[in-house]
Amino acid sequence: MAQHYKNLINGKWVDSKSGRTFESRNPANWNEVVATFPKSTKEDVDDAVKAARAAFEKWRLVPAPKRGDIMRKIGDLLVAKKEELAREMTREMGKVITETRGDVQEGIDTAYYAATEGRRLFGNTVPSELPNKFAMAIRVPIGVAGIITPWNFPMAIPTWKMFPAILSGNTVVFKPASDTPKLAAMLVEIMMEAGLPEGVVNIVHGGGGEVGNAITQHRDVDLISFTGSTAIGKQITKDSADTLKRVSLELGGKNAQIVMDDADLELALEGVLWGAFGTTGQRCTATSRLILHDKIYDKFLSMLVDRTNKLRLGDGLLPTSDVGPCVNESQRSTVEEYVKIGVEEGAKLVAGGKRAADGDLAKGWFHQPTIFSDVTREMRIAKEEIFGPVLSVLRAKNFEDAVTILNNTEYGLSSSIYTQDVNNAFKAMRDIQSGITYINSATIGAEAHLPFGGVKKTGNGHREGGWTVYDFYTEWKAVYVDYSGKLQRAQIDNY
Ligand code: NAD
Ligand code: MN
Repeated sequence: MAQHYKNLINGKWVDSKSGRTFESRNPANWNEVVATFPKSTKEDVDDAVKAARAAFEKWRLVPAPKRGDIMRKIGDLLVAKKEELAREMTREMGKVITETRGDVQEGIDTAYYAATEGRRLFGNTVPSELPNKFAMAIRVPIGVAGIITPWNFPMAIPTWKMFPAILSGNTVVFKPASDTPKLAAMLVEIMMEAGLPEGVVNIVHGGGGEVGNAITQHRDVDLISFTGSTAIGKQITKDSADTLKRVSLELGGKNAQIVMDDADLELALEGVLWGAFGTTGQRCTATSRLILHDKIYDKFLSMLVDRTNKLRLGDGLLPTSDVGPCVNESQRSTVEEYVKIGVEEGAKLVAGGKRAADGDLAKGWFHQPTIFSDVTREMRIAKEEIFGPVLSVLRAKNFEDAVTILNNTEYGLSSSIYTQDVNNAFKAMRDIQSGITYINSATIGAEAHLPFGGVKKTGNGHREGGWTVYDFYTEWKAVYVDYSGKLQRAQIDNY
């Protein structure tokens, strides 16, 4: 019998009032049930929000450095359990073990950053325009945060959101992706073991349309932090409008790497292999387009095809696997659909192009790393997010042309350029429209202490990571202290 996990509401592990359950399975071996979970409803969400609201009234009064101490303990526990978490993550969502270790490490980094932020949370003191008057701006927590996450970073993304939320004095109702509920449950267990008071973190498992929806529309939820698709991001914006919630959205991407004619081609090759096929292309920052300078187009493409054909598909727990499966059947179908679209649009299929189902691979949702060359900028495979191991290669005449092609997308998360020309490198930093730009490095590789997020339809202007995320989870409060002993009217008595 597969292990069964429950919701956590007000410090107690409880099943859904509906009595229903769902399974999480291993995408490398679909017969393997990882664990079962409650398929929750709006009623369960109501209970969780009630618990979070009650806990908020106490948690907001706990000194921030004390809250930080708990974050440090969470970090220590994540370190101790890193290998176990990484293995379970590979089993639950498929990416290779070296990458799942990195995912857990991002959670550790975020915990320790939050621990130290407990002793900062800086405000400002500024002079008043009146004598004997003191002015300052302080950060205050907001209330109950609804946290809704995708499956591709089961540890990094929930920790990016929950740790700063909680460190800032808010309480949380967490709805993880239904493809990765086990990692979410393990994370919340660790948070409780570290000593979070009951009700500060609550987890409600279930579907987006049912549990997610109940959170975004809830009258007593103040904040929503969401990472996922652009379509759902728009839906959430509408659903949370009636209650005027503060909403942070991290959405889709169609990231590109440029390789100029003066680039170190070997280095650029390592970059694109990692960017395009790491996490089986299922990263918001994955390299989905490769823009090659005309002069090196043929040479680089043949180098790339050669290396791509050597990538080994397999169960991510095996040391011989370079690329794992797609997360589920529908994700692989999407990939197959886009391969068909690419062929129909007239792009040239130069690597992969098929599902992989030889031997043990037949048990999972594997798809060959796939490359289309001769992609033109108006093709759908040049514009739409695929979220799988498919790379579209485009040709650029020169630097300006390359940047124009890169910017020709409704998204703007990550970007990369390989060049030895310092002038072009700086022009790229200025002219590329994206939240993240890498010079001589792949489109993936964000570090926990820098701002993370995108422009255009990748988001709505907020940033996760580093110091910037604390602007989302706190409200600025201006405080004036008048010690003059009389009524002093600003703008009036002094002018
Ligand atoms: P998704 O949008 O289908 O689901 C994300 C989460 O939203 C899940 O927990 C889901 O259950 C929930 N949800 C679904 N419908 C909902 C609704 N109506 N109301 C509230 N919640 C709802 O995305 P996914 O397939 O899990 O993840 C892949 C997508 O996420 C890709 O588009 C990818 O680009 C994006 N992504 C973005 C970033 C980023 O930081 N920009 C990071 C990772 C993934
Ligand atoms: Mn799963």
